[in-house]
Amino acid sequence: MLNELTIAEAAARVRAKEISARELTQACIDRVKKVDGQVRAFLSYDEADALAQAAAIDAAPASDKPLLGVPIGIKDVLSVKGHPLNCSSKILGNFRAVYDATVISRLRDAGAIIFGRLNMDEFAMGSSTENSAFFTTRNPWDLDRIPGGSSGGSAAAVAADECIATLGSDTGGSIRQPAALCGCVGFKPTYGRVSRYGLVAFASSLDQIGPFTKDIRDAATLLNVISGHDDLDSTSVPQAAPDYTKALDGNIKGLKIGLPKEYMIGGLDPEVKAAVSAAVDNLQKQGAEVVEISLPHTDYAVAVYYIIATAEASANLARFDGIRYGIREDGADPVELYSKTRGAGFGAEVKRRIILGTYVLSSGYYDAFYLRAQKVRTLIRQDFLKAFEKVDAIVTPTTPTPAFKVGEKSDDPLQMYLSDIFTISCNLAGICGLSMPCGFTKSPKLPIGLQLLGKPFGEETILKIGHAYEQSTNWHTQRAPIGRA
Ligand code: GLN
Repeated sequence: MLNELTIAEAAARVRAKEISARELTQACIDRVKKVDGQVRAFLSYDEADALAQAAAIDAAPASDKPLLGVPIGIKDVLSVKGHPLNCSSKILGNFRAVYDATVISRLRDAGAIIFGRLNMDEFAMGSSTENSAFFTTRNPWDLDRIPGGSSGGSAAAVAADECIATLGSDTGGSIRQPAALCGCVGFKPTYGRVSRYGLVAFASSLDQIGPFTKDIRDAATLLNVISGHDDLDSTSVPQAAPDYTKALDGNIKGLKIGLPKEYMIGGLDPEVKAAVSAAVDNLQKQGAEVVEISLPHTDYAVAVYYIIATAEASANLARFDGIRYGIREDGADPVELYSKTRGAGFGAEVKRRIILGTYVLSSGYYDAFYLRAQKVRTLIRQDFLKAFEKVDAIVTPTTPTPAFKVGEKSDDPLQMYLSDIFTISCNLAGICGLSMPCGFTKSPKLPIGLQLLGKPFGEETILKIGHAYEQSTNWHTQRAPIGRA
């Protein structure tokens, strides 16, 4: 089954002309047709366009491009010229993107096939894809459960082998949390590593684009392609990115790995705890030195995040006014037009965030909430920088529990917010992090995620550790049961 290949395997076979890009793309399309009626990872895909991209690659002279002929699915928050761009919201109507995001141009230059629009929580606000205005994506391991979010479609599509890899975005955990719950690798790069040009902004000081893949090597390969400076994003660092695959040497002897004591919270599921402890033992056996560390401001992270992220979102989403793009509800005057359009176009969670964000920025509350949150954000970053003076990487569970049932938390925003308790600090601190499979619960069989956090621009170290761990386990090769009988 060609759709089950990794990037490394698939691109090597296309380069060697053992298979065509067309066959590979067709295998993914066939798989989508077979299982996506149940998984619902894709909002849409353009079969003819994908096959035309593949035909162009097959017709071109031989090439050693790293993603040659490889179909990559795209979260519905990234601009792909001529394709729908909805952010899983009603407010964008029939809008189609007018340019390629920088990451998309880079994927194309590397030989990838840009394939489909993947479901997400509306404007990337959520942890389950239940906030999509269209439908909820299902977890390929158990269709009664959520795939995580906000990039739930991106994670589910990889877990169900509907494409070879995908891109998502991570503002407070939206790559790592769904990767953990669906059993794939998800990588959030250091803030500034990857250009955000063409990513619809949720919270601009937190957002980063990153890959979902079947293993660590593929994550390194995709990072190689999408990383690096871009004149079109002033927050992208003017610093060349290394070849991340070179870090995958299997040698972690002498590396120091920190275990934050604040992450061993009461609500931690016992099976998650046991799987993460076993992974830590594994790393120790391979020669890493594990030490306890403290990140004392951890308790404030969720509160700080929901002030800063909503403040930024309230400003970023002001552009959806019924004038510039998408749907328009007519009104007697502009204000009525805006409010009717936004009232009809945005879902409940997006409205909740805009109202909260507007409140924390309003005069009289700005100092008490927004300014104070910014100060605590600095303390959270300092906690990490201090810890990284002693350790090379930090290991934690990615999520406190495995995937929950559809509907279980959707009426309780606070419970939902807590599912990102281990991922949010990484964005506030601007550091890098990944999630990778480290086991399964017994019954039902659900994936468990291990999170590795690295220094600013310390991507190589966490990839190296992840790879060494992956080499000694077989979690990543286990596939979701859907459509395989
Ligand atoms: N679940 C978090 C939120 O709802 C994080 C989302 C994200 O990373 N985009 O904001």
